[in-house]
Amino acid sequence: MKNVLGLRCIDCHKELPVEAGTYTCPGCGSQGGILDVEYDYPEINRMTSREQVAQSKDYSIFRYLPFLPIRQNAALYEQRSAYLRVGWSPLYKPPGLGKSLGMSNLYIKDDGQNPTASLKDRASIIAVIKAVEEKAPTVACSSTGNAASSLAGSAAAMGLKSVIFVPSRAPQGKVAQLLIFGATVISVQGSYEDTFRLSAEAIARFGWYNRNAAINPYLVEGKKTVALEIAEQLNWEVPDWVALSVGDGCTIAGVWKGFKDLYLAGWIDRLPKVLGVQSTGCCPLVDAFLEDRPWRPAEEKTLADSIAVGVPRNPDKALQAVRESGGLMVAVPDEAILDAMRELGRTSGIFGEPAGVTGMAGLKVLVNNGIIGTAEKVVAIVTGNGLKDVRNAIKAVGEPLKVEPSLQKLMAKLEGRL
Ligand SMILES: *Cc1c(COP(=O)(O)O)cnc(C)c1O
Ligand SMILES: [Zn+2]
Repeated sequence: MKNVLGLRCIDCHKELPVEAGTYTCPGCGSQGGILDVEYDYPEINRMTSREQVAQSKDYSIFRYLPFLPIRQNAALYEQRSAYLRVGWSPLYKPPGLGKSLGMSNLYIKDDGQNPTASLKDRASIIAVIKAVEEKAPTVACSSTGNAASSLAGSAAAMGLKSVIFVPSRAPQGKVAQLLIFGATVISVQGSYEDTFRLSAEAIARFGWYNRNAAINPYLVEGKKTVALEIAEQLNWEVPDWVALSVGDGCTIAGVWKGFKDLYLAGWIDRLPKVLGVQSTGCCPLVDAFLEDRPWRPAEEKTLADSIAVGVPRNPDKALQAVRESGGLMVAVPDEAILDAMRELGRTSGIFGEPAGVTGMAGLKVLVNNGIIGTAEKVVAIVTGNGLKDVRNAIKAVGEPLKVEPSLQKLMAKLEGRL
């Protein structure tokens, strides 16, 4: 990996070499010491360029291979047609949604279009490639649901076993995915915090490859590809804002890392602001940001299960990302999340899960109170597909018209509706 210089601790800034089994900074203990991957940007520019990427017919995250911390010419990479196709999700500019929000430059990056239907696929494929590089036969993680289903999917594609810990509240669609992909699924009767703790103990005990996102510094690198794609899809003209939901904080940290890498490599000439959004039912990072104090554990009282994270695992990276970018954080109530699901679906044909549309719900608040201008160029990332959580979708839109099989009865029901 000539493109990678090493790992750097985000807390004490100590540099560490890339080594199998190094996940966090040994000096900073288990509560901090999250690492960042550092690149040799002149080397990346010897390996690739904007022009070369534009010519690439590889419509997956591997079109940016020199920006990724994996072996650059491994046999693994050559057999790639066997892996799931991750990335290169569409960037839409839906006119109906723009009109509905009163915005003239609003884009939606639909990451629900990934193979297991969430942005998490971008991280999981890197985890599985690293596991193969390190010759680990089994991968494991704890997850609110999507990290789990995506890990199980990528593991199945590459012939690895997976052991997955989810809280018992995980929506059925996500649990069904896990079982279909052949994972050993452990449904923990407790919160996400309990689930995470049990998985960490078991991973240490059994020596599985650890896909717990905050702990594993390579996963944010997979997630950052969403930013690389946004930049390329906008012809390298950086948006003013990128809005997305926040749970553990890895995704927002990844988005920021992606833009920073492009900036440091000289591929873009400025950086966006990032808007991080949580539900008012569980918003430890929004509270820490707005009150400018360390985060405190919160209850997990939101229907947006993917971001119901009371004890975030990557709080420092997330808060650093928002602050460095000059961005903002905001919390929205669950009703606003359900409204956003409905509004997005009706104006653009895109179906997001609750956490998938929370970024858009927060954006709406900031546009309504004038903090984000109506002409600013904004990308809202839809991080997961609505089919994963049909129960909450029905909550957002209600039941269908029920009618007996008679045209007359149908006409009576439709009266005044069309
Ligand atoms: C995991 C997830 C998030 C939040 O990502 P974090 O890294 O936990 O902040 C948001 N939306 C969806 C759909 C997710 O699965
Ligand atoms: Zn450290």
